[in-house]
Amino acid sequence: MPDNIATSTDEPLDALVVGAGISGLYQLYALRTAGLKVRLLEAGSGVGGTWFWNRYPGARFDSESYTYAYFFPRELVNEWTWSEEFAGQPETERYLNFVADRLDLRRDIQLETRVTGARWSEAERLWTVTTEHGATVRTRFLITALGILSKPAFPNVPGREDFKGEWYHTGLWPHTNVEFTGKRVAVIGTGSSGVQIVPFVAKDASSLTIFQRTPNWCTPINNFAITPEYAQQLRDDVDKIYELCRTSPGGSKHRPMMTSSLDLTDEQRREHFDRLYQAPGLSMALANFRDIALDRTANANLTAYIAEKIRARVDDPAVAEKLIPTDHGFGQKRPPLENGYYEVFNQPHVELISLADEPMVRITETGIETTKGHYELDMIIFGTGFEAVTGSYRAIDIRGIDDRPLLDHWDNGPRTYLGLQAEGFPNLFFVGGPQSTAGNIPRFTEVQADWVTRCIAHLTAQGHTRIGTSAAAEEEWNEHVLSGIRGTLQETAESWSFGSNVEGRKRAYLLYAGGLPTYRDKITEAESADYKGFELS
Ligand code: NAP
Repeated sequence: MPDNIATSTDEPLDALVVGAGISGLYQLYALRTAGLKVRLLEAGSGVGGTWFWNRYPGARFDSESYTYAYFFPRELVNEWTWSEEFAGQPETERYLNFVADRLDLRRDIQLETRVTGARWSEAERLWTVTTEHGATVRTRFLITALGILSKPAFPNVPGREDFKGEWYHTGLWPHTNVEFTGKRVAVIGTGSSGVQIVPFVAKDASSLTIFQRTPNWCTPINNFAITPEYAQQLRDDVDKIYELCRTSPGGSKHRPMMTSSLDLTDEQRREHFDRLYQAPGLSMALANFRDIALDRTANANLTAYIAEKIRARVDDPAVAEKLIPTDHGFGQKRPPLENGYYEVFNQPHVELISLADEPMVRITETGIETTKGHYELDMIIFGTGFEAVTGSYRAIDIRGIDDRPLLDHWDNGPRTYLGLQAEGFPNLFFVGGPQSTAGNIPRFTEVQADWVTRCIAHLTAQGHTRIGTSAAAEEEWNEHVLSGIRGTLQETAESWSFGSNVEGRKRAYLLYAGGLPTYRDKITEAESADYKGFELS
């Protein structure tokens, strides 16, 4: 670990990046390549962000490995070979370590350094950043790359601290081996993380009780190994693949079909759904007809199809019905990908508890109490998700002009301009923050990181020391962000995209539904128009 990055009393840095996930690493690389004096602080003891913390058994990409990975610089593409279409967490973490080494990033990264505060000085035009150990570092520009799903959320029931057994959150999984063998294990939560871990727990636990608040529409991941020939083909096609990602709404290699699924006969539609059910990854969500996300009848046809699949895979009809969502249609929430999830419920030692039938009352010393009984447990796994997008900002006391907290500014939901800045917080940029991403995150955040790099280089070249934005620019962006979600079926779903997975949180749309090409156009248009909506001085 490099010394004294955070205790430096030297000249202020040009830029400080917070977070060594896939976005922060790229931001560090881009700023350093532009010749800036930049450092990165990271709370964890290793790089990788999401792929460092979410190390639970079964954690796996559900974007194609090579579309989630970096495309630049090209030596990263040429020198790394993915073993599977959808790589598991250990491989992804290895990859991000390879990147940190290959780009020689570590000399500017300080690990085990949690940032707890940042205060803007208008007089000095500097941010002073503090860490949990009380060290400070001054920087001209501050860039937060905190990740959209990094602050774990827990059920709001009493007694978690009373439980005498082992407990884990999927998003804070330990580095030590967690042994399920012979144990009575509970998994709470059936989102993407819960659905991924359940088959692994079921293999070894003596009993597995799955506490489900709301079922999800899960489809098979259909993963496969990457052969040497296929790996070569991926390298040969790298430009083509990048262009597909760059020009698709979700930043993925898939794109929606713009004709209507309602124009097909029932038989044609079934063939189409059959094909997607067997296709890899998020094909069902991303390579389907666009009207599935917009039209209730089109959506109902697909949900009926997947419900049928669930009934066919789960032996007990009553359990199957509990696993079929009734509160939302396919795609209204991010659909989890699964590998043998539904078959787990056919095993005699596995029980599904629907919290709709018997709400959780408390966690006790020995297990979980619901309104209908008590479940004795040796281990509880919380797959209960995250305080999404702005949650990680709650752990940092960010103060802008006149000492105003960022959280006050975002009290009624996040307000940003282009997802890049907030009014009253000059020289602070968000990469992967609110109102700026959805889909394949690295493809969105690389666009932001490149933009921020060009912006800082431009300011420096022009002799400017400050960039800020206005309430009017935020208002305009807010309206644009909301127009992207308005009228879609997602608009009415209760999901982490609106923060409504966490009790008591105000509902506000946290992502950007306008698609990657529009997002890129919007931010580059502002840049080309002399940083329209920003104030440079
Ligand atoms: P999530 O989708 O928010 O799921 C959390 C689960 O916990 C939901 O089933 C939720 O129920 C339940 N829950 C929350 N609070 C609860 C409470 N108080 N009592 C009982 N149950 C509760 O979180 P996640 O599964 O960690 O996934 C979050 C996102 O991370 C995904 O949507 C995806 O974007 C990403 N992710 C990606 C991958 C991948 O790429 N392979 C893997 C994992 C996660 P409700 O549905 O009722 O809220």
